[in-house]
Amino acid sequence: MKKSPFRFKSVLPGAEVSPVDWQDWRWQMRQSLKNQPQFSKQLDLSAEEIDGFSGLDQIFRVQTTPYYAALIDKENPNCPIRQMILPNKKELIPGFQQMSDPLGENKKQNRPCERLIHRYTDRALFLVTDMCGVYCRYCTRKHFTASDQVAATTQQVDEVVGYLKSHPEIKEVIFSGGDPLTLNNKKLESFLERIHSVETVELIRIGSRMPVACPMRIDQELLLLFQKYKPVYLMTHFNHPDELTLPAAEALENCVDHGIPVMNQLVLLNGVNNSAALIYALNRRLLYLRVKPYYMFQADPSLGTDHLRTSIEDSLAIQRQLWGRASGLSMPTYIVDIPDGGGKAALSPSFQVSQQGSQRHFVGWDGVRASYVSPGPEARREPLVDELYKTEWLQLNKES
Ligand SMILES: *Cc1c(COP(=O)(O)O)cnc(C)c1O
Ligand code: SF4
Repeated sequence: MKKSPFRFKSVLPGAEVSPVDWQDWRWQMRQSLKNQPQFSKQLDLSAEEIDGFSGLDQIFRVQTTPYYAALIDKENPNCPIRQMILPNKKELIPGFQQMSDPLGENKKQNRPCERLIHRYTDRALFLVTDMCGVYCRYCTRKHFTASDQVAATTQQVDEVVGYLKSHPEIKEVIFSGGDPLTLNNKKLESFLERIHSVETVELIRIGSRMPVACPMRIDQELLLLFQKYKPVYLMTHFNHPDELTLPAAEALENCVDHGIPVMNQLVLLNGVNNSAALIYALNRRLLYLRVKPYYMFQADPSLGTDHLRTSIEDSLAIQRQLWGRASGLSMPTYIVDIPDGGGKAALSPSFQVSQQGSQRHFVGWDGVRASYVSPGPEARREPLVDELYKTEWLQLNKES
């Protein structure tokens, strides 16, 4: 076997913790750190950080697994992991744009059921639970996440299944929340089974930060579940190369070895990962582990997140620095989610500098100037399209 070009770090428990407990994801969840005294036991909190706890844990839940807390650099107040999970007084500063529901997910037209968001034609988001393994300060779904700490009820699932059956254009169901992998395998299987049984649903995606916050969650039984209800895609949420530890890397490889495609969605965060070097390092490691960097999100204008949001100029600059230099496979699509439920908008650098008729002039990523002469639109010929494909396409375009 080829020797790994990367050294993924082991994460070992303190002497007081038994390795068996440490490896048990339920133990990790039960032992999660939730308040300032618990964090103070593990880290040197600055006076400012201690202050950050007062009142702010009421605004948005503070919680992390002991495993994820162990990734924190105990002495460095600018540690990226620290900034993602510790409350900060800056969350109270009124800022540029702060919305409790930035993506318009509570709008009636996007929310046909309590637990379903249907915003794009052929896929819908199933809010399986509002629990997470770690609560990220930049979370875009603060309006839902951490509210009641409950999984969808049978009645709510019935409602979702009913809607899916009356909307055959929905081909993909994305399990989200909250984090679906905070549920145990039995509960998760009950949901997978119900959604899988809807004939028109072709594919299930699981969106989870548990591979980051608690890689022990990816146990053998879970992988067999994913196989049983295939095709299942796992969408992870690694933001920083320091999150790619040895246990996380092993969990990802294990998934892919079991035939489960894994994709990563990252969020650009100010002072945390807004550097081309960091994004490049993260994406090369992911790619080596056979995880496809899928989306790179501009942080949404969620309540109390101004200090964590990058400028769009900064985000675009990162993307431009990577373009052409970094493997296309390692390049995620940069997305700004249009507030109020406008949907995703992809931004990419433009290389076209001018156009004269059918001739478009470009300057390539490393400065080459050249033109592309395009056939005119009048040259278009209609290809043969099978009736079956036409029917499928009509379904996607019908008014629902
Ligand atoms: C992002 C998102 C999806 C998935 O979109 P893809 O571009 O297919 O990854 C689906 N539903 C909602 C509500 C979303 O926000
Ligand atoms: S894991 Fe996702 S849903 Fe949960 S707090 Fe973090 S960003 Fe929000």
